[in-house]
Amino acid sequence: MSTQQAPDRAEQLSAELSRSLFGDHTPDASPHEHGRRLLADEAFAHRGGLSPAESVELAYRRLRIVNASLDDPWRLAGDVHRLAALHEWLAVADGALTTVAGIHYNLFLGSLVDHDPDADRDLTPLLTTDRVGTFLCTELDHGNDAAALETTATFDAATGGFVLHTPHPGARKFMPNTSPAGGPKTAVVAARLLVEGADLGAFLFLVELSDDTGFRPGISVRPLPERLGSPVDHCLTSFDQVLLPHSALLQGDHGRLTADGELTGGIGNRRKRFLRAIGRVTTGKLCMSACGLGGARAALAIAVRYAGRRHVTGMSAGRRVPLTAHRSHTDRLLEATATAYAMTYLHRAATDAWARAQHEPALREDAERLVAVTKAWNTWEARRICVECRERCGAQGLFPVNGLADFTTNIEGTITAEGDNLVIWVKAAGELLFAPATVPPARPAAPRPLDDPRAMREMLAAHEATLRARATAALRGGPTGDPQARWNHAVGPAQEALSAHVLVRAADAFLTATAAAAAGGGGAGALLTDLCRLFLLDRLRPLAGALIADGLLPVEEARRLPSLVQELRARLTPRLETLVDAFALPEELLTRLPLLDLAAQAARPEGPPR
Ligand SMILES: Cc1cc2nc3c(=O)[nH]c(=O)nc-3n(C[C@H](O)[C@H](O)[C@H](O)COP(=O)(O)OP(=O)(O)OC[C@H]3O[C@@H](n4cnc5c(N)ncnc54)[C@H](O)[C@@H]3O)c2cc1C
Repeated sequence: MSTQQAPDRAEQLSAELSRSLFGDHTPDASPHEHGRRLLADEAFAHRGGLSPAESVELAYRRLRIVNASLDDPWRLAGDVHRLAALHEWLAVADGALTTVAGIHYNLFLGSLVDHDPDADRDLTPLLTTDRVGTFLCTELDHGNDAAALETTATFDAATGGFVLHTPHPGARKFMPNTSPAGGPKTAVVAARLLVEGADLGAFLFLVELSDDTGFRPGISVRPLPERLGSPVDHCLTSFDQVLLPHSALLQGDHGRLTADGELTGGIGNRRKRFLRAIGRVTTGKLCMSACGLGGARAALAIAVRYAGRRHVTGMSAGRRVPLTAHRSHTDRLLEATATAYAMTYLHRAATDAWARAQHEPALREDAERLVAVTKAWNTWEARRICVECRERCGAQGLFPVNGLADFTTNIEGTITAEGDNLVIWVKAAGELLFAPATVPPARPAAPRPLDDPRAMREMLAAHEATLRARATAALRGGPTGDPQARWNHAVGPAQEALSAHVLVRAADAFLTATAAAAAGGGGAGALLTDLCRLFLLDRLRPLAGALIADGLLPVEEARRLPSLVQELRARLTPRLETLVDAFALPEELLTRLPLLDLAAQAARPEGPPR
């Protein structure tokens, strides 16, 4: 496939593209190099034939290897870019490891970083992973509506401490990894703070769950059954009148409790206080998006390389050709590759926005919404891409040892965890109706041809404005006196507007990256411009009818759509391998996969080993 370009030229291009996706591959310049190096290590190679319990133990052993490789786990927990980057690489190696690492570093340690980080606590065993941190928010009765959780922490005026209690079975903590597997554990637990009968809303409490001898008094843990995807020791956890000291309450600017039980702090609203307390869930959304990126890019790297090596019967008698000779095969991989670039750039923009919002509170609301839609869009797209890549590798793709099959099940967890995609999507769609318009709100004065990606971006922005106006009208025109019926009347159009919005944001991120690559003076700028055009054309095609009807797309331009796509595919297909080489999967990882085993293939020219 890549025979049409000299190898050094292809390598140079791929290095430029890599820089555009990850920054420089040096430990100081890029937060990615650390994760990439771990992935290359034999310790993270696929291990077949393990029972679920053995896989869970392996995940905790690997967590300790990851921890030993870190210069400073506390600094990692405070660095959004590094946390998210680590997930992009760990997710390729081991889904269970990624889950326990995300919980330990982000939800657990990150919550401590966010609440009075200088408090006098001995965190040494947690920083050395002699203890593992867990995060207990979800309850059996309260998942996406965790703000309504029912676990209580009753203030005890006599001691200044709290009594942590599970009032009924539906309030048991659902899903966290609290079993004895992996050693002693400490939790951050979300519970409703009660002071003299008054409900002050949910706060986080630091609770030691277990030590080497077992669970602490009053704590019961029941393992949940095996779930789809890489197994983790998910459990149901309940508390029976567990005594906590005052220092267990994680306090911050959102709320503080004096020793006398008086609440002080900047946020008066109980719900907002809780959302601020569990702010790490937003970074968690970025980590889920990162897992989707890592899985999708690795799946593409494997499937594209396999397509170059797998030979099948060609159109000419007696000739076998690589799968890459078939455009039916490469068109799908090319579309998915263009999407993976868009996902990556959108994720980078969302991560930057969330990191900036840590220091500029005025940016917080917009950044949170961008993170939420990025998580939802990226993990949904990642699921589609992983399934496509698995299918393009045939039966070989079904064997976990070939590196693809696990992605298709692990991605399901990222879609539900840290806020179910549909729930956060619909919430963002509602907020968008009241948010400032995405520029430019007006229709472009004279539609420009589709050859220009900026013209396509403007067309999408105008489409978004039209859809937003329709959704707002639907909300206004909905039945009065019944908020559920009123929202139900608008939720469909609002989601359509959000779908256009996320494409505009992805286009903006893609175009910014393209401009930066072009400024570098190499060939990556032109290649990325073509890839961005393909991404946008593929998204515009299903909208063509609506765009024509709204006067946003001239009919003659719409007629050119299929041929424009064909031209781009023809130009980009010879670059497909270069485009996925830029995903920078370590060679050590790729050569470990039997379906890419070149030596065995040389001995069996008809195809890879079975
Ligand atoms: C791999 C994994 C790891 C996890 N780890 C942890 C952990 O460490 N700690 C922890 O506390 N939790 C953890 N969770 C739990 C996770 O936070 C919840 O699963 C998630 O919040 C969704 O809750 P639920 O599963 O109860 O789904 P539900 O809230 O019951 O949702 C079920 C369905 O109802 C729909 N729905 C729900 N509410 C609405 C609404 N308002 N409007 C429209 N539709 C709605 C959803 O779209 C979904 O389709 C984990 C989950 C997974 C998958």
